[in-house]
Amino acid sequence: MPRITYEGAAYECGAGETVLDCLTAQGIAIPSSCRSGACQSCLMRALGGSVPEVAQTGLKPTLVAQGYFKACSCKPTEDLSVALPDAASLKLPALVVSIEPLNPDIVAVRLRPARPLDYRAGQFIRLYRDAQQSRCYSLASVPQLEEDVLEIHVRQIPGGRVSSWVHQELRAGDKVEIADSAGLCFYVPGQPEQPLLLLGTGSGLAPLYGIVRDALCQGHRGSVWLYHGSLSPAGLFRAADLTVLAQAYPNFHYVPCISEGEVPPGMRQGNVLEVALADQADFTSWRVFLCGHPDMVKEGKLQIFLAGAASAEIYADPFLPSGAVLPLQS
Ligand SMILES: Cc1cc2nc3c(=O)[nH]c(=O)nc-3n(C[C@H](O)[C@H](O)[C@H](O)COP(=O)(O)OP(=O)(O)OC[C@H]3O[C@@H](n4cnc5c(N)ncnc54)[C@H](O)[C@@H]3O)c2cc1C
Repeated sequence: MPRITYEGAAYECGAGETVLDCLTAQGIAIPSSCRSGACQSCLMRALGGSVPEVAQTGLKPTLVAQGYFKACSCKPTEDLSVALPDAASLKLPALVVSIEPLNPDIVAVRLRPARPLDYRAGQFIRLYRDAQQSRCYSLASVPQLEEDVLEIHVRQIPGGRVSSWVHQELRAGDKVEIADSAGLCFYVPGQPEQPLLLLGTGSGLAPLYGIVRDALCQGHRGSVWLYHGSLSPAGLFRAADLTVLAQAYPNFHYVPCISEGEVPPGMRQGNVLEVALADQADFTSWRVFLCGHPDMVKEGKLQIFLAGAASAEIYADPFLPSGAVLPLQS
């Protein structure tokens, strides 16, 4: 049984147990959030021994080179000596420039980091409430368009520790800490004629709003379909901007979808997945982005794959709640 050495003490790590499970079972506080390899809140550093490759999937090469790994994805096969990250090297101070309501539940928070962040629209950052509590929020901003300001969209979860703090306590002018961008849900140029499908519910629009503007900005010529779902019209946001964008770019189509009650003209009845599948039966050769509610993302991945999209062309960011105990993502 491999042993994990942490702050001078060694602990046996059971078969199939992760470093995160092993240390938290000993009462050691290791920051974590999604616990499924997505959010990188549980980053640790290997000081001795090597970690399985899967524990470093999706990390920037600079982090891999320094021995960082995701404790929730690391089932060690040999003895490891580990430490928490040097917080100063990962965190970045940022100023809250503005907080603006987008709909009754979601605010747009604009942040100016102390140094420019190297990121792609659609990736996510971590926002810290304090040393122990941080959450992932996707980037709606586009580096080429909003040079020094990052924009995130935060939905208030009733009783949510970080989202309620953002909604009720955080103010323009406050100083916060964020952690570097991460995630694989972003536009990669190189196939400008490829059709793109973007599906999102609620605050899942945030990364898609970034990705779609990034793609169009980079000269994407293939058709781009963005479906944004909400229970009612009041839940939609950035609709006017997206309508203007669709007028400016004939290859871009914005489809707001309403799943309950009366549907105003120009909007579609149903959830995003049903509406997209009704519009297009075959997604062979499409690139697909799915963001937002984990159930929609899971079902969307399956249905769009069955409708022909290659799994390597499906990029997904389920907005997993902190503490979710879910199977590791592939
Ligand atoms: C990769 C990634 C990107 C994300 N991007 C965004 C984003 O752009 N915008 C955004 O608003 N959120 C996003 N999230 C979710 C976000 O990180 C937090 O999980 C969310 O804000 C709740 O945190 P909290 O501290 O307020 O709630 P917590 O204190 O962590 O949870 C409080 C309670 O609410 C439950 N809960 C948490 N989330 C939900 C939910 N969605 N629906 C119902 N119950 C819930 C929890 O299980 C718990 O019981 C993202 C998550 C991931 C993993």
